[in-house]
Amino acid sequence: MRIYLKVIWISLSLGMLITGCSDSGTTAIENIHLVPMTSETVIRNQTVLIKGDRIVEIGAAGSTRLPGGCNVIDGQGAYLVPGLADMHIHTRDDWRTEAWPVSPLALFLANGVTTIRDFGPKGKTTTFPLRWREEISRRTLDGPWIYASGEKLYASPADDAAGQVRRNHSQGFDFQKIYSYVSPGDFKTAMTTAKELKFYTAGHIPFQLGLAKTLFYGLDEIAHIEELDFEFITFDRKKQLPAKQWLPYVVSQAMRHYDMRSGFNETEFRARFSPTLSDIIQRIKTSDTPVCTTLSVGDTIVKKLFQASWFRARPENKYMPKTYWQAFKQGREKHQQQFRGVENLALFKYELEKLLLRELHHAGVTLLLSTDCGTGRMGIAPGFSIHDELRILVENGLSPYEALYTGTVNAAHVVAKMGGRGDFGTIAIGKRADLVLVQGNPLENIGAVRNIQGVMAAGKWYDKLRLAEMTALKRK
Ligand SMILES: [Zn+2]
Repeated sequence: MRIYLKVIWISLSLGMLITGCSDSGTTAIENIHLVPMTSETVIRNQTVLIKGDRIVEIGAAGSTRLPGGCNVIDGQGAYLVPGLADMHIHTRDDWRTEAWPVSPLALFLANGVTTIRDFGPKGKTTTFPLRWREEISRRTLDGPWIYASGEKLYASPADDAAGQVRRNHSQGFDFQKIYSYVSPGDFKTAMTTAKELKFYTAGHIPFQLGLAKTLFYGLDEIAHIEELDFEFITFDRKKQLPAKQWLPYVVSQAMRHYDMRSGFNETEFRARFSPTLSDIIQRIKTSDTPVCTTLSVGDTIVKKLFQASWFRARPENKYMPKTYWQAFKQGREKHQQQFRGVENLALFKYELEKLLLRELHHAGVTLLLSTDCGTGRMGIAPGFSIHDELRILVENGLSPYEALYTGTVNAAHVVAKMGGRGDFGTIAIGKRADLVLVQGNPLENIGAVRNIQGVMAAGKWYDKLRLAEMTALKRK
């Protein structure tokens, strides 16, 4: 009996080998229009060959020779774009449990997100994203490529700022995240250590430092456009406050100085703040500091506060964890609490962030497509949020090509700066085979990126049916 079963098992495996993938190990995606992102162009009627996790050949349909036994995917005239990166997310150790209706790892893939960068894991340990990355690279787990920061330097006094940076570095993380409540002393120590180790740094602008000092000490990247809001507020940066009291203090100062009840008036704002605005943009531009956009946050805050029933009925929101909706119904959700009684502040700040986005883009600052999803605490649906972010970028003056650029070419550029292989983000020979097949030309209409026909992540193909299975909600 045991031998009999073994024979069946062997023949099943062989059968899968022959039908699923070929002995040449090569896959061809045929009959596609290529959006390579190497320039603003569409190359019509192409074939792309993939071997292992790499793109090995690109050529005109008809004149590209397919190796014998090659696995062929018919693109049926769809557009092939590089996989997208969400450059600011948070992993959580419960993603793969019942806490989430569907694992965000699957949601990312189903939305064409083939790279994520973790800005601080939430869970019992901080090293689980490294284990997941290992599993994904061994193909025992389906998910996007993960870059990760490990434990963030959160507040001062830090136990041992230098030690923490060293630990994250030696554990194999890709960068150090620094948060709002770090003192100038700890910040300097962390930055000096990071520079010694050639370890990339990204984060908030600590309240006690402000933008100028943060850039002076060499923070490599700013984690949100939102961080720049605080530059317009006058407050005492030398104040000694516990972490939790900083934000209420700064907000109270903002409310004292400006009347936000009548909303955001760009002309008035510019009349009052244009020197500050140009100073901010100039500093970021001249220091060549990339900035994560994460405007999905502001967009989501405004929607949940002012269009709550629409927000709750949003199709992608059924993928949020149950605990999120419990908190929401009870009015205990993060932003419901933060903006209670000061709802207009949310509107004001989102308008300001969109103005900052337009200015940063106009100045040619490196923007990074990112949505701050994954915590399950803010109502931002992993994967889906990338399409919101792209829409917001295009609504604020980026062309569809420029918007895609922030989540492909710019993402790869920054990964290379972090010391990784920035070998993704364009469709070119030798690049990692991270590809998204979409219906319609995304360079004409960014919304086309939502019409996903299939996704390839590091050479592994997921067709539409497979993606639907992976993201199917279990019936209650
Ligand atoms: Zn974040």
